[in-house]
Amino acid sequence: MGFRLDIKKNDQVKVMVGRDKGKVGRVLEVEPRQRRLYVEHVNMIKRHTRPNPAKQIRGGVLEKEGPIHVSNVALVCSECGPTRIEHREMAGGKKVRICAKCEKSLDK
Ligand SMILES: [Zn+2]
Repeated sequence: MGFRLDIKKNDQVKVMVGRDKGKVGRVLEVEPRQRRLYVEHVNMIKRHTRPNPAKQIRGGVLEKEGPIHVSNVALVCSECGPTRIEHREMAGGKKVRICAKCEKSLDK
């Protein structure tokens, strides 16, 4: 075990607290050790870049996603919206994530 997160890359999640509360987006990247993730268009932070003509970088303000803690988001079930995740072990020993409300599989 260790650092695995219940939420995975490409999941749809909803932000439940903070500045971006209510936003829904796709998970771009997860950082299990830090228990945080990056969600498309969520927690946008501005980064100032210096012009570097040698690399054809013009400089200016670049916006990109900042990390948010995994406890601030909920996985979105296509049937019932934001939900809790439960785990099921299938007959063949395969583990799947299911929606705690409608028991639909959350893994494709
Ligand atoms: Zn559901």
